[in-house]
Formats: sequence, structure tokens, C-alpha cells
Amino acid sequence: METKSIPEIYGSLVFNDTVMRERLPKDVYKAVHKTIQNGTHLELDVANSVAAVMKEWAIEHGATHFTHWFQPMTGLTAEKHDSFISPEPDGTVIMEFSGKELVKGEPDASSFPSGGLRATFEARGYTAWDPSSPAFIKDGSLYIPTAFCSYGGEALDKKTPLLRSMNALSDEAVKVLHLLGHSEVKHVSTTVGSEQEYFLIDKDMYMKRKDLVFTGRTLIGAPAAKGQEMEDHYFGVLKPKVSSFMHDLDEELWKLGVPAKTKHNEVAPSQHELAPVFETANVAVDHNQLTMEIMKKVADKHHLACLLHEKPFEGINGSGKHNNWSIVTDTGLNLLDPGKDPSKNTSFIAFLTAIISAVDEYADLLRCSVATAGNDHRLGANEAPPAIISIFVGDELDAVLKSIESGTSFTEPGKVKMAMGAPVLPHITKDNTDRNRTSPFAFTGNKFEFRMPGSAVSVANANIVLNTAVAETLSKIADILKDVPAEERDAKVLEIAKDALKNHKRILFNGNGYTDEWVAEAERRGLDNLKSLPEAMPRLISKKSIDLFKKHGVFTEEELRSRYEINLENYVKTVHIESLAMQEMVRKDFTAGLVAYTKDLTAEASQKKALMPSSACTLEESTLTKLDTAAASMMTALDKLAADTDAAEAKDDLLEKANDYHASVLADMDALRAIVDGAEKLIPDQYLPYPTYGAMLFSLR
Ligand code: ADP
Ligand code: MG
Repeated sequence: METKSIPEIYGSLVFNDTVMRERLPKDVYKAVHKTIQNGTHLELDVANSVAAVMKEWAIEHGATHFTHWFQPMTGLTAEKHDSFISPEPDGTVIMEFSGKELVKGEPDASSFPSGGLRATFEARGYTAWDPSSPAFIKDGSLYIPTAFCSYGGEALDKKTPLLRSMNALSDEAVKVLHLLGHSEVKHVSTTVGSEQEYFLIDKDMYMKRKDLVFTGRTLIGAPAAKGQEMEDHYFGVLKPKVSSFMHDLDEELWKLGVPAKTKHNEVAPSQHELAPVFETANVAVDHNQLTMEIMKKVADKHHLACLLHEKPFEGINGSGKHNNWSIVTDTGLNLLDPGKDPSKNTSFIAFLTAIISAVDEYADLLRCSVATAGNDHRLGANEAPPAIISIFVGDELDAVLKSIESGTSFTEPGKVKMAMGAPVLPHITKDNTDRNRTSPFAFTGNKFEFRMPGSAVSVANANIVLNTAVAETLSKIADILKDVPAEERDAKVLEIAKDALKNHKRILFNGNGYTDEWVAEAERRGLDNLKSLPEAMPRLISKKSIDLFKKHGVFTEEELRSRYEINLENYVKTVHIESLAMQEMVRKDFTAGLVAYTKDLTAEASQKKALMPSSACTLEESTLTKLDTAAASMMTALDKLAADTDAAEAKDDLLEKANDYHASVLADMDALRAIVDGAEKLIPDQYLPYPTYGAMLFSLR
């Protein structure tokens, strides 16, 4: 077979800039390029011209259909495929695709979650082409990234508010930059690189676990003798089966123009990570959705199951999706790059100030943006950032901020050379930030890394909140600066920063975020610790939140309320399914194993007694007694779980219902699990109708 080089493979299924430059008429190309660069509107005649070229290209690449690809509020992607065929009177077909079909689709919106938006409006929904995210070919269809809205124009998806938030941030950032003398900047973009963690296990084992199949996480299962305590998996040698999966995954992603860059083993056994090169936020979000989908598909081909849940296994690390975020101007300047001397870099200080203020002011909304039933199991557990939001800036920036606050001058430490003691090794310079793995929001050199998003969700929400909150604090800075003479603005920025630090320094924390001391300290500082989704969610519809999103045109009050409802509904439904899956697995599968083993032990004991009347049958009898006790408490716990689930389900008020699921159903599930896991330890593997933790986590070769 002919092997192709990576540059040949890369983007080969993408209608990207190169394809457009080669194939589109010059003026059309220019118009599209301008739209992509500056987020401006595209005319229908341009769309017609693009559609014609797109169709030719897609057919050449084997496509027979096209689909508007969108991201409804399920957090997943949706697609409906139409073929290009158009029958002719003579019984033949021609292949057609118009600008109108490219620009607009009309899927029926009635079966997508709308969180109440549908009640007042028609079921009709519209999809609208997002020219700033490139179309691509997958499984014989041309995929066109689109936004999804209702008949009344309300956003029913994640892309629309994300694009709105990117615009809001751009508008406010440009205002500040102009006031600081950067009049050449017309537009800024937010850039995002999202590191994706996941687990891989054998597919047959996966299929035998109802909990994994129905809920994505194990609901019972005693820990294996070995966990992650040896620290031997992180960055460890890739096993051939895993390596071969990763190789195919990279290739599939590269074809789709997803810039997969880094791959490695993670902390927990069978856990891995993929990091892409960063891109503009909306493209990065689309690409992350694609990445998750392709991961599952490639895993399946390799007879593996890819688990994207935030906490598939108890007792070992869960999976997150670190959201690396920065702001770059259309002139190519990364506004979060501190440069040689951050203390003299006025725009950097203005943006840093805006971010620190935004994260403190709207910490609760950031928390809401990562709240899902799955992620609740991770936040606050000791492998993940806590549910408390704080910012790590590192030593150098800390010194800069301290000098601003105290009005003293900052002395640049200069790059420190590190000598490693062996002359053959090169001298390397130290970076100005060390890594702090426990901070939920960390400055990492020229970007911030928000570590709270869960592995399974779209990172759209996190970026919507981040962009909008920073747009707001930038607008406050612009308001102050505009009344100050140009030559005094640099000094004013330092003054603004000083004030902001005074008000917001409680959010800065460079220590270990996993400790109990920090939880106590954070409480003293008045920082929120919103531990669960039901606890966090009311903040999303607080007056402060509604005002923020309304002011910047990101969400209307109705759109925000719809998200609140959908988040609570999802939570309730998720825990409900988990409860039912657990009840079924315990009542049927686990019980069958328990009964079979009990039966064999009893038979064994009576046979032994017949053969050796003097034997006390200690082994059999003590095990039987333990199993019998466990079985009794298991039945009680199971009945309680069933009753409490029914009681929660009967609640009318959605928030009350979610709180009930959190406080009673999840607690019952924990209690039941403890009993079942204890009993599982006594039962030989062959009696269990599903694989154990040990088998699932340590079997890949
Ligand atoms: P680490 O594991 O140390 O956090 P990685 O290399 O795995 O580092 O991930 C860093 C991520 O940050 C990558 O996805 C990278 O593309 C992204 N990144 C780097 N610079 C920027 C930037 N300016 N804006 C957004 N993301 C960035
Ligand atoms: Mg990282």
C-alpha cells in the first residue's frame, strides 16, 4: 500500500483555506476570508459561489450527502443528511447544492431540549452556516458546521452564544487596546487548546458492564489490589495496543484538520491524554467534539471502548479537559504574553487585571459552566481542582502584582540558567512560571489554563463564561481610561490594577489547592465552594448573571433560564438512570453471582461434613456468614434506594428534585455500593457476570 506523508494527509478531508484559495474566484475568496478573519456578515451571492465549489470538491472526495452539523443543548452534536441528488424529468439525476442550502437548514427543533423556549415559540428550528469553522468530509457526507436557533431567533445551541461571547470580548478588548495606543488592532480572537483525557478498556469487558454501557461509569466494583500508587503509568511506555490506537486516532484527526499534537499515558491505569495545538475558540470547540467522536470510533475498530466519563472508576483519578485560553489580536499579538518586562507591558497588565477581576467577580458562573452530574464526582476529589475557584499566577507575576499593589518598583529577575551538574548536558533556562497542578485556573506562561471542565462535555460553556466575564471587566477598564488624557493612560492602568488587586486579591492562591487548609482558608476569604450542580445552578439565573449576559448580548434572560432548566433536567435524568442501572445490576447480576457462590459453598460444606464429620467447616461457614450479613444489608439498602428514587422522581419543583437526587439518591447509591463492594471482595471472579476493576484496568497489552 502506498503510504502518504503527514503533510499530504493533514486536512485532506477539509474545505480549508488552501482549497478555497485554489478553487474560489478571487473576489469570493476575499469575501469569505474577511468573514472568517473579522467575523463579518456574508452575502448570498458569495454563498452561492462557495456552495458550487464546495459541492464539486465534496463529490471529488466521495461525498454523496451534505449535513448541517450543530451542537444542541444535549452537549452532543447533531446531524441530518441530505443527498446532493436532484431528479431530472428524463429520469436521470444531477448533483445540486445551492447557497441557500449551504447557509440555512430547517431541522425540526421539537425533539431537542429547549428548556422552556419551545413553549412560547414554534417547533421550527434553523441552522445557519458558521463560515469561520471549516466544512469537512466524514463517512461520505459533507459536514457544514452550523449554529442552531429557534423560530424566534433564540439560541438553541452552544455555538451561537460562544460566537456572541467571542464578539463581545473582541469589542471590549479593541476599545481598551485603542485607548492604550494600539489603534492598528481591529479584532481580537480567543484561542483555545483543550487537552482531552480518556480511558481505554477492552470492548468485550465494556459490553459486560451494564453500568458502563448505560451510564458511562462503574456504579459498583471493588478496587483492584493495585491502583495508581506506584506512579508508574504517568508518561509510561505506551503498550502496543494503545500505541496502535493512538496512531490511527492521530491519522483520522489529521485528515479532518484537527491538529492532534501530544499523546501520553495519564496518572490512572488505562488513562491517557491527547492535546491538540490551540485554535480559535469556536474551531477548537468543534474540533474537540470531533475528537471525542473519533476517539470512540477508532477505539471500536481496535476492539476497545473509549470512556470519556469524568469518573469511570472509583478510587483512581477521573478525567478532565484542561481549557487553555488566551487572547490574540488580528495583528498577531498574544495579549497574555508578559514579554521581557511584564511590569512595563501596559496592555498585558490591563488584560491580566481584567482576567483576575473577572474570575473573582464571576467565579460562580465559571463553576456553573463546568457543572454536570459526571463532573461533580471529580471536582473536590483529590485528583482534580477543588470546586473552589482560585487563580495561580506563579512567582514572577506574583512579584509584579505585589510591586503594583505596593507602588514599589519591580526588578526583573532575569532568566535563570540551570546547571545540571554534568557538563555533557545543555544549560537550560528556567521558565518564569512553575507548574501548579492543583490550581483550577493557572497562568502558564502566555495563557491561562482552566482545569475544571470535565472530560465528557463541550468546552463551549466554559469559554462563553470566560469571554463574557472578561468582556465585562475590560469594558469597566475602558470606561475609566476614556476620560483620561492619552499620555496619562499608562499610569492610570497601574492605578486600576492596584485597585483591582485590593478588591480581588482573595482569588489569588499559589499554594496547594487539594488541602483541607485551603478549604478553610478559602472560606475565611469568602470564596464560594459550590460542591454540587444543584448547589451551583441557581447562580446562573441570579440578577448579576442575567445582567452580565444581557449587557453583552450573549444570552437573553429566556436563553439563560432555558440553560438553567436543561442543566437541572440533565442532572436529574442522569442520576435517575444511574439509580435504575445500579438497582438492576445489584438485584439481578450481582445477586446471581452471590447466590451461585453461596450455593456452591453450602454444597461444599455439606459434602465435607458428610466426608469428614469432625470438620468445623470454618472457611465455608465464616464466608457464608459474612455473605449472608452483606446480603441482608444489601437488600435493605437496595429497597431504600428504590424508595428514595421514587420519592425524588415524584417532586414537581425541578431544583428541589435535583437537590433530592443529590442529597438522598446519590447518598443511597454510595451506601449500597460500599456493601456490594465489600461482598465482591469475598466472591471469586468466575462467579461474577461482569469483569472486575483489576481485569478492566490492567488487561491491555
Ligand atoms: P500541559 O500538559 O503542560 O498543560 P500541553 O502541551 O499538554 O501542556 O498542553 C498545552 C495546551 O495549551 C496545548 O493544547 C496548546 O496548544 C495550548 N496552548 C498553547 N498556547 C496557547 C494559547 N496562546 N492559547 C490557547 N492555548 C494555547
Ligand atoms: Mg495542561
